[in-house]
Amino acid sequence: IAAQATLAFYAGLSMQFVCQSTLRDVRNACYEKIITLPMTFFGQRRVGELTSRIAADVNQIETTIDTTLPQMARQFIFLVGGITMIAVTSLKLTGIILVTVPVLMSVAIFFGRKMRACARATQDQLASGHTIVEETLQAITSVKAFTNELWEKARYADSNQKTHAFALHAARWRAISSAFFVIALLGTLTMVLWFGVSLMQHGQMTPGALTRFVLYTVFVTGAMGQAAEAFNQIQKTLGSTQRLRELLREESEPSDSTSAPARLHGDVSFDGVCFTYPTRKVEVLHSLELNVRAGECIALVGPSGAGKSTLTALLMRLYEPSYGNIQFDGMDAGSLPLKWLRRQIGIVPQECILFGGTIRQNIAYGRSDATPQEIQLAAQQANADEFIQAFPNGYDTLVGDRGVQLSGGQRQRIAIARAILKNPVILILDEATNSLDSHSEQQIQVALDRLMQGRTTFIIAHRLATIRHVDRIVVLAQGSIVEMGTHDALFANTEGIYRQLCRLQFQASPQDD
Ligand code: ATP
Repeated sequence: IAAQATLAFYAGLSMQFVCQSTLRDVRNACYEKIITLPMTFFGQRRVGELTSRIAADVNQIETTIDTTLPQMARQFIFLVGGITMIAVTSLKLTGIILVTVPVLMSVAIFFGRKMRACARATQDQLASGHTIVEETLQAITSVKAFTNELWEKARYADSNQKTHAFALHAARWRAISSAFFVIALLGTLTMVLWFGVSLMQHGQMTPGALTRFVLYTVFVTGAMGQAAEAFNQIQKTLGSTQRLRELLREESEPSDSTSAPARLHGDVSFDGVCFTYPTRKVEVLHSLELNVRAGECIALVGPSGAGKSTLTALLMRLYEPSYGNIQFDGMDAGSLPLKWLRRQIGIVPQECILFGGTIRQNIAYGRSDATPQEIQLAAQQANADEFIQAFPNGYDTLVGDRGVQLSGGQRQRIAIARAILKNPVILILDEATNSLDSHSEQQIQVALDRLMQGRTTFIIAHRLATIRHVDRIVVLAQGSIVEMGTHDALFANTEGIYRQLCRLQFQASPQDD
């Protein structure tokens, strides 16, 4: 009893160790894969689906490792042992049992396939439900502002109902499978009994041997039933985790293997660059030719959808051009190590979404080895130090989920401090469209001017009044460069698009002119 108890203790513990270690490794592998996948992948998937894969799909493995695999091993030993004992008792009767094995296996495979497909459909539907939760929670203010709670509730309930239906469909196949195995195994037992009794009547078998035989057969058929159940569970897990395995087979972005110069100088050129988003088969940039000198400040202007953001996304190599190439200091972008290249580029986005840690962590996001002094210096240069110091916890203030506890202007200055700390050679500024009060705007402009000094800068400009002094303005329209030059030169062209854009903005907000 003591030995049995000790074994049970270590068996349970070691199975859990294997199980939890596997879950940990699979989760890590999935996350590592997801985070290194190219942007093309994220264009096709939704965040909720991916989080569901990591959370719900991975958990499906738990029961299989913890319960099913040991059960299968146990039943396999029973099966081999039982059949050996039966064979020793009566070869004729063993034949009856062995004939049933291939039949049972074929049927188990058939049911297994059905359950695998159902389990995959259930997990897919579950992931759709997760997507609804994720998206509505991310945009909870809009949900409330549009009083769409009831509609969202119905949408989620509908999705859950579908998951419920798929799960029940799988359960139906499982129940049919169980019923079939009850008939098949008890049928085998009955046949063995019937045949054994007739052997006994003809004196070919003793009552003792028949009793022994029936006892072993009960063992074997029981083991077969359990093995079939375990097989079904494994099929279900394989179905549930199919998308995970597909995910792990996706191709990641290339890792940096080639050597690169210490730092870029800052020359950038677009050489006949065309681009089509993989998810939408329409070319959005057409044969772009643009040469930018190191330290030059370029403003990208143009109507909405002209391709300004796409151009900067190509610069960061979030996507690869469909034709043509981009060169940095005369070197083809594709030949440069990807992560190294991205470290040379800083971005201050239009919507500054922060991570839910402290202000200090957020500023140091691009350079985790920065000292507290460097962080404070960056914040001072970004005109952020003053408001940060005014918080009771200073640099250790928590910014809340995605930075919601800070104002738009404060978030933007944190993003500027982050870029200053990163000290990039090339800078991308996506100008905020929302107007700030003139004091904050002036503080941000001063911070941006400091940040831009000595760096090749691309400004995605929405308000033309802010870009009069840049070196060159590039006007994009429908994916092509239609005008290029200084503000004065472009404004002088009364027929030009830039002039028209200025006129439209002037009419909309005369104070900008
Ligand atoms: P805005 O001033 O409104 O921000 P933009 O000039 O920056 O516009 P882009 O965002 O570059 O324009 O978009 C250019 C075109 O590419 C648009 O037609 C847009 O619909 C399309 N587009 C942008 N992002 C994607 C994407 N991830 N997948 C597919 N198409 C996209």
